[in-house]
Amino acid sequence: MANQWTKALLRKDKRALWHPFTQMKDWQANDQLIIEKGDGVYLYDTEGKKYIDGCSSLWVTVHGHNNQTLNQAIKKQLGQVAHSTLLGLANVPAIELAEQLVKIAPKGLNKVFYSDSGSTAVEIALKIAFQFQQQTGQKQKTKFLTLTNAYHGDTIGSVSVGGIDLFHKIYKPLLFKSIKVTPGDADELEKVLKARHREIAAMIVEPLIQAAAGILMMPKGYLKTVRRLCTKYGVLLIVDEVATGFGRTGKMFACEHEGVAPDLMCVAKGITGGYLPLAATLTTDRIYQAFLGQVEENKTFFHGHTYTGNPLACAAALASLELFRRNKLLANIERNVKLLARELPRFYQLKHVGEIRQCGTMVGIELFEDKKKQTPYPAKTRMGHQVILEARKRGAILRPLGDVIVLMPPQNITQAELRRLIEITYNSIITATTK
Ligand code: PMP
Repeated sequence: MANQWTKALLRKDKRALWHPFTQMKDWQANDQLIIEKGDGVYLYDTEGKKYIDGCSSLWVTVHGHNNQTLNQAIKKQLGQVAHSTLLGLANVPAIELAEQLVKIAPKGLNKVFYSDSGSTAVEIALKIAFQFQQQTGQKQKTKFLTLTNAYHGDTIGSVSVGGIDLFHKIYKPLLFKSIKVTPGDADELEKVLKARHREIAAMIVEPLIQAAAGILMMPKGYLKTVRRLCTKYGVLLIVDEVATGFGRTGKMFACEHEGVAPDLMCVAKGITGGYLPLAATLTTDRIYQAFLGQVEENKTFFHGHTYTGNPLACAAALASLELFRRNKLLANIERNVKLLARELPRFYQLKHVGEIRQCGTMVGIELFEDKKKQTPYPAKTRMGHQVILEARKRGAILRPLGDVIVLMPPQNITQAELRRLIEITYNSIITATTK
């Protein structure tokens, strides 16, 4: 039985809160978890129950919760200033962080434009690419090339380059049209670029893996081919590292796996270690130069959110990068990538596990009603959801993508904790699928 406090909070929640990506009728009808605190890889609910954060609080947690270094860095900055605008002013952590991001980013990305979410980082990349073409005499280059199944955020611009019908279809009349190609098909890409490059400002891709689409993998070498073809046909390349950045794929940025340097790169999520909303769009000197001119020429990039370059968020990001170095976090990630690769194949023994996909510490385990025929469960079964409810009983928080069970553990997770998470997931799948 829930305690009085939890019950009162839930009543208030159901009265006033509208949750994202959540069918509120279903939410209203059921008991819900309320998180009170976190520590390391664990979250604690208002009843004091402890859970491994198996989805890194939606793919953001890097060094665990309540990390003392991150806490201290934010408190120290809080003693200086919590917020000051970047419109016409600078602030200390925003400058320091920009310098560090340039240092770790793929070669040539020398300029940093801040915002506060993955979606805004994408909007900014699209607008910069468009304006760059307008201001360099390529006025006919107004379109964007994107991949089917793409996900780049929920704002209208980022939805316009998205391709997940379930989320995006209803908004079609509001969106600008983008040109779509099949992920992984280099021949189709070249055909489209050859025929239409004159009208294309930029191509946008999630590198290596389409995450929100269901942890879908792209063939090795595809990103490199995309880079080569975009260069060949004079189309800018925007790489959306919002999900993959900051170690998720085993390297700091997914681009590094294929030695790719994009013209624009979007980062968010893990940038602050998962503490505060911050995003950045990085670009090259060549693109930056196209925005320079006399004030009255109006070549300025007229874009900027109120909290752009927020000092608290930038201070957290600086501390996060320091922890990457100090804790040799990429080595821990590498160990975990190997552990996952060793442990996951046994999930294939389960009757309803059809496919397991892994890219770094991003994992998708796809469930089917009939595995041989790859028949999905009827939508109303909500098998993915059933599995995560079982996982909660066993002490782990997961969030599925339909019937794909996603594992996205905090990057500082120990081998023992990761084994436990895998075990919980395994048992939860068995219980939910054999009920
Ligand atoms: N791009 C990618 C690749 C993402 O995975 C996401 C979020 N899952 C976004 C953009 C949007 O980020 P945000 O939710 O912070 O707006």
